[in-house]
Amino acid sequence: MTEVIILGLTGSIGQTAVRGCKTFRDQIHICGASAHSRIGQALTVCIENGIKNLCITSDEPCPETDQVRIWRDLKEMLLSLEADVVLNGISGSAGLKASISVIETSPVLALANKESVVMGGWLLFEEAKKHGCKIIPVDSEHSAIDELIMTEGRENVSSLVITASGGPFRNMDQKDLEEITPEQAVKHPTWSMGPKISIDSSTLANKALEVIEAHFLFNFPSDKIEVVIHPQSIVHSMVRSTSGQVYAQMSPPDMGFPIMRALLQYSFPHEAGAALDFTKLDLTFSSPDFKRFPFLTDAYECVRLEGMYPTVFNTANEIAVAAFINHKIKFTQIRSVVRDVLDLDWSEKIKSFDHIYEVQAKVQRQVKL
Ligand code: NDP
Ligand code: MG
Repeated sequence: MTEVIILGLTGSIGQTAVRGCKTFRDQIHICGASAHSRIGQALTVCIENGIKNLCITSDEPCPETDQVRIWRDLKEMLLSLEADVVLNGISGSAGLKASISVIETSPVLALANKESVVMGGWLLFEEAKKHGCKIIPVDSEHSAIDELIMTEGRENVSSLVITASGGPFRNMDQKDLEEITPEQAVKHPTWSMGPKISIDSSTLANKALEVIEAHFLFNFPSDKIEVVIHPQSIVHSMVRSTSGQVYAQMSPPDMGFPIMRALLQYSFPHEAGAALDFTKLDLTFSSPDFKRFPFLTDAYECVRLEGMYPTVFNTANEIAVAAFINHKIKFTQIRSVVRDVLDLDWSEKIKSFDHIYEVQAKVQRQVKL
């Protein structure tokens, strides 16, 4: 039996993981979870699914119950439960601290929280190596690439092709992008996800974060990472081999696949998901429009420059998205907020996780809204 802990239980990734674990109940047992603000919902999910440990990461009060032990310190819970795999489905930069705690305490980190990779960069992987923690990517594109690299061999892969749905405003005129509301931006055409990543998908900041994530996960330079628009979200990514072949990973757009692949440590039976009917598929591919969605240009720049640029990109974007959700700035201003901060000098090398938090605080002070 694989013992797992689900961080971000109340979110989209957390809930998909709970459903997947129910399907594989003969192989997986959820021994613990974390939630932040939706405490009532978290307790209900724990009680319904026999999850005996819950860490509340906010300062919110939590009712007593004899069915679930409440923890207030994540690392303490991780150390005590000794799970085989910990899924990090926390949203945003808050996920970095959790990823570090998992790396320091657990053998496998199933990583959905892409912000951890973007902010932590090489340091996250050095720490994982030092502590003997394996990181398995859960982001669907990276899970696909991980699978393809495992099959083909890293030495036979020359470059990566990351697919992007293009988001809900893929075909919208530049002038109309100005008037987009947060309510429109959170509605993704092919994936059902939390609000932050949905808005990131609509600006293509999500794809920008994924280009940086791929760079650190698989160690390819910026000119070996392509992005291609594929609105149907069936091909989750591709690799080009040194012999000129292209290999693709395809499945319906369901996060259950990459989540369970990570929780079961690669042994997820693909036939467990709905089979693809190729006679009903109409798959299309096109180039991204860098002019209307300039976040992609920023991503390549961050990969080239490294230093603190990826951390700064992620932090400024998170602040701008929160401001957009609160109707403080327009849709098109999200990118200008990020660009203004990126134009400063962030070339210093990452020295430690504390250094990353310092830069994060500096960006929070710099961003003018
Ligand atoms: P959601 O917004 O649906 O859920 C976020 C989860 O994180 C909730 O459980 C929330 O707890 C918790 N959380 C929020 N803030 C904090 C905090 N400060 N400290 C600790 N926990 C916190 O997000 P998603 O599930 O959509 O995304 C989670 C991560 O996975 C993101 O990094 C995203 O980029 C990545 N991802 C998501 C995909 C998807 O399909 N959803 C696909 C690929 C990657 P509470 O609700 O109790 O406040
Ligand atoms: Mg993704």
